[in-house]
Formats: sequence, structure tokens, C-alpha cells
Amino acid sequence: MPTRDLTKLSADILDVLVIGGGAHGATIAYHVSKAGYRTALVEKNDFCGATSASSLKILHGGLRYLQHLNIKRMRHSITARREMMGLAPYLVQPLACMMPLYGKGLRGKRVMQAALFLNDCIGWDRNDDLPPAIHLPRGHIVSEKQCRQIIPDIESEDLHGAGVWYDALAVDTERLILEYILGSIDHGAMAVNYAEAKAVAKGDDDLYQVTIQDRLNNETHQLKSRFIVNASGPWLEQSIQASKKKDTKQRWALALNIVSRKKIFTEYAVALEGHGKYEDKDAIIKRGKRLYFFVPWRGHTMIGTEYRESIADPDDLEVKREMIQNMVEEVNAIYPSAQLTYEDISFFHAGLLPMRSQSEENTIQMEKNSTFFSPEIPGFSRVLSVKGVKYTTAPHIAHEILKVIQKQIQPESGTVTAKKSPGIATQWNPVQLQCKGLLERKYGRRAVHILSFMENEEDSDIWIDEASSLLKAEVKYLLSEEMACKLADIVLRRTGLGTAEYPGRRVLEKLVNYMGGMLAWNEARKEQEIEDVLRRYAPLVLQES
Ligand SMILES: Cc1cc2nc3c(=O)[nH]c(=O)nc-3n(C[C@H](O)[C@H](O)[C@H](O)COP(=O)(O)OP(=O)(O)OC[C@H]3O[C@@H](n4cnc5c(N)ncnc54)[C@H](O)[C@@H]3O)c2cc1C
Repeated sequence: MPTRDLTKLSADILDVLVIGGGAHGATIAYHVSKAGYRTALVEKNDFCGATSASSLKILHGGLRYLQHLNIKRMRHSITARREMMGLAPYLVQPLACMMPLYGKGLRGKRVMQAALFLNDCIGWDRNDDLPPAIHLPRGHIVSEKQCRQIIPDIESEDLHGAGVWYDALAVDTERLILEYILGSIDHGAMAVNYAEAKAVAKGDDDLYQVTIQDRLNNETHQLKSRFIVNASGPWLEQSIQASKKKDTKQRWALALNIVSRKKIFTEYAVALEGHGKYEDKDAIIKRGKRLYFFVPWRGHTMIGTEYRESIADPDDLEVKREMIQNMVEEVNAIYPSAQLTYEDISFFHAGLLPMRSQSEENTIQMEKNSTFFSPEIPGFSRVLSVKGVKYTTAPHIAHEILKVIQKQIQPESGTVTAKKSPGIATQWNPVQLQCKGLLERKYGRRAVHILSFMENEEDSDIWIDEASSLLKAEVKYLLSEEMACKLADIVLRRTGLGTAEYPGRRVLEKLVNYMGGMLAWNEARKEQEIEDVLRRYAPLVLQES
């Protein structure tokens, strides 16, 4: 059973300590522990609670990198995407993407046809070893008429059809990262949420000493590790002071998606050009406009991504009503028949990403490649800091980091913890059988473990909330096996209950009462837990279901 045991962790000498439980930290911990290193991961809040939860959920094969003629970057995306899809096939599905084509030039059919052909050649092995249900078909061109069937009110002047290609949609980005973290635990690693790395010092014994604060009880612990990977995303320069590159200060842009209750397009993710001018400085083939994606997801439509420079401390990241309103207006300008209103917005995704510069025309140039580096400070050669720009390519960065670690240290024998696989029954009673399919869709192969928590439950007493398909056994399992500590951990990061829309006070109360019974929460604590969840939806207009 995974435990948040920092005392046990500090008794051991680690090979590798990973700071940060987002896409980069999780994939690094997974690959490093799989290679036999004694590994631990610490995350100051909950796993996948920051930038990695705020993505448009597209696992890109990198079609757009053809604009930069960057085949290497495409290959990194394609192989990393395949790894993620193979690790948790139940969390991904093929996503048909459509882009309208205009005229005879760069936005026209011929160029797109060539791009789709190259995309399929470069991604020849994109489906290798994946279950057929999630294979990504080849791209193709559709006629103007077919394009109009999907995008009925598309601007028609000079419209010649549309290009269609396939990426993968990570239906639940938070669980996908958890799968990597649980996988690293299966490989002997230890992972602890609500554990913040406060300071790193080099000891005389050639080990790094890291002060960790347990944010649930404020206790401090000292960990010793031979190697450190700082994968703390936008906190990169704060979590280890030494991660600042000499004389440079990284600039960050706030990236924003909105989620609409209104289904704008249903079968396809549609890419439409924004109105403002945008020049991608690195592109060899310049389109002159930023693309906005409208992605069907969980019965809603995600729309993004918009960027603006942010000088905020990452801990103070705040999305104001006016930012969402601006985006609603931009969507209506791009596709007027969307007729989006502020009240249609049920959720938003916001995070900080590394930016390079802001041009005179005010267009933000984002960093294009994920990188990692050692701080230029004597004694810190076995510390690596990761600056990641894509969720999709995190496994690629993890492989590269593993190679660097392998050149510098060899694994000590033994592991931090040895996880015993739970003894799973193979015979299910009728109540368990009734829930098996539902749980498999939500938790893949972990469903059988959840079913074992139902052994003694009566048919009439299995639900926390039947309308939300939330079972008591799920919550027992998540508290016991996935380190869920707070109401928000379950609502926002382990069940998907509140990731597209506020689930309603009634459901939150039922859930908090059930959790409170198991964790001995008093009424004040329960109210605090609900308040914490509600904060995630500010400044939206909440609808009680
Ligand atoms: C709106 C938006 C849309 C996007 N869309 C896509 C997309 O469709 N496809 C795609 O591939 N990418 C997309 N991205 C990019 C992608 O989400 C990010 O590049 C990626 O998730 C960054 O992961 P990370 O692990 O580096 O950072 P994070 O996810 O931020 O993880 C860093 C973690 O470190 C923790 N931490 C910080 N300091 C400490 C400390 N001292 N001790 C312990 N823990 C600490 C933080 O709490 C955090 O959880 C999008 C990003 C945004 C914002």
C-alpha cells in the first residue's frame, strides 16, 4: 500500500530524488525507478495539480512542427505519445482534428496534402504495440461540403475543403500522470504528495541533503540523495535557488483554455484561425495567425490556447473574470455562431509556460523545446533542472535525463519500498459484477483492485452518488491506495468528477461526509474542504445540478 512515509524515506540514501509531481516529474520517476535506481518523488501539493492538469489534453504527434521543418521534434512527440497511450489505453482515445483550407497557397489543399503525407510517413510506427481500439488512422483531405457538415457556419470565401489528421485525446490528464506515479511505485519508488522541497545543500559526503516539509502536519525531514532532478515547472527557479541560469531570469506566459457547456463541434477537434496577427518567428512556413482548437471533451468543448505575459509568482496565479470574458469574445469573433456567453463557461485551464520574448506587435513567442540543465554552481553537477514546454513530450525528456543519470551514477542495489501486488479475487459477486464495467472505463486494470473494496457491500448501499456514478469503494480505494488526502484530490484529480464542471453542492456534501467519516473530519474541516474545491471554479458562474 503506498504511504506518505517521509520518516521511512529519510532513513534511506536515495539514488535519485525528483522534485515535482507533474508530467515531467512523474515520467522521470517512472523511468528512473524502472532502470533500478532508488527513487523518490516529492510534490508540494497534490500530484498533477499544476500546469499538467491545465492542458488542452491533446497528445500531439507534432504535425505543426512541419512548419519549422523540425522532424526530430516530431519524432520525439510521436514516440512519447505512443508511450503514454500504451501505458494507460483506457485514458486516451483517437482525436480527429480538422482544419479548413483556403485558397491555393500555404493555407490551401496542396500544401496540406503534402503535410499530411509527410506526417503519416514520419509517424509510420505511431501505432506499434498499441491496442487496435486506439490506433490513429492516416490523415486525409475532405471536400468543402464535408467540411461544412462539421463546421456549418464556416467563413466560405475561397474555402476549398479541410485537412483531417489524428492526434490522441488524454481524456483524464490527471489520472494519466497518476498512472506514471503508481507505475514508479510498482518499480520500488516512493512518492509523497503535500511534501515540499524547501532547501538543497551539498554535504561533505558527496550527497545532497534536502529539507522536506510535510505540508499536512508541518514536520520537517532531511533526505539524502546522490542525484536530484528538479521538475518543479514554473517554480523551477524558486524550489532550488541554484536552478537559476546565471544572469538570466526565465519569463513565463500565462496560457489559458476555457471549457464550455455548449457543445460547439461534436465529432472533431476543429482548428480555426484567431483574428489577431501572429508571427511565429521560428516558422519556416509562416501562417500569420495563431490557431485556436475547439476540442470535444466530456460532453463539453475545450477552447484554447491563449497566451499573455505573466509576472506573477506561480503561487499567486489567478484568472480574472475579464480574461475569460476576453476569450469568450475572441471565440465569438472567430466563429460567430458559437454565440458563447460568460455563463456557458463551466471551467478553465490556466498555467505558466516558459516564454522567450514578446514582439513589438505584442505577440508572445513561447519556448519551443523542453530542455534540462545543471546549475552553473560548483558541486551541483548532479542536479538537473527541467524546463518543460509540452505534456506530450515529457516521456522523451525522461529518457534523456535517465541517460545523463546513467553516465554519472550506477544504481545502488535494493529499492526504497517493495510493493506487493494485492491478492485479487477472480470470482465476483453480483454487486461487483454490476460495477466492473464502469470501474474498468474509469480505472483500467486498477478496477479489480477497487472491486476488492466492495466485497461486503450490499447492492442498496454501494453509491456515494449514483447520478455521478461515484461508488463508496472508489473512495475507499483512492484514500488507501492513491494517497488522496483532501476532497479536491478526489473531485479534481482522481475521478474526473469536477474537471469539466462544478459537480454541485449536494454531491460535494455527500462525498465530504463519507470521507469525513473515514478520516475523522469535524464539521469545520468538512466546510473548509468544500471551500477549497469551490475556489477552483472562481470566478465562474456556478450551476447547481
Ligand atoms: C492552457 C494550457 C494548455 C496546454 N495544452 C497542452 C496540450 O494540449 N498538449 C501538450 O502536450 N501540452 C500542453 N500544455 C503544456 C503542458 O501542460 C506543460 O508543458 C506541462 O504540463 C508541464 O509539466 P511540468 O511537470 O513541467 O510542470 P507542472 O505540471 O507545473 O509540475 C510541476 C510540479 O512541481 C511542484 N512543485 C513546485 N515546487 C515544488 C517544491 N519545492 N517541492 C515539491 N514540489 C514542487 C508543483 O506543485 C507542480 O505540481 C498546455 C499548457 C497549458 C497551461
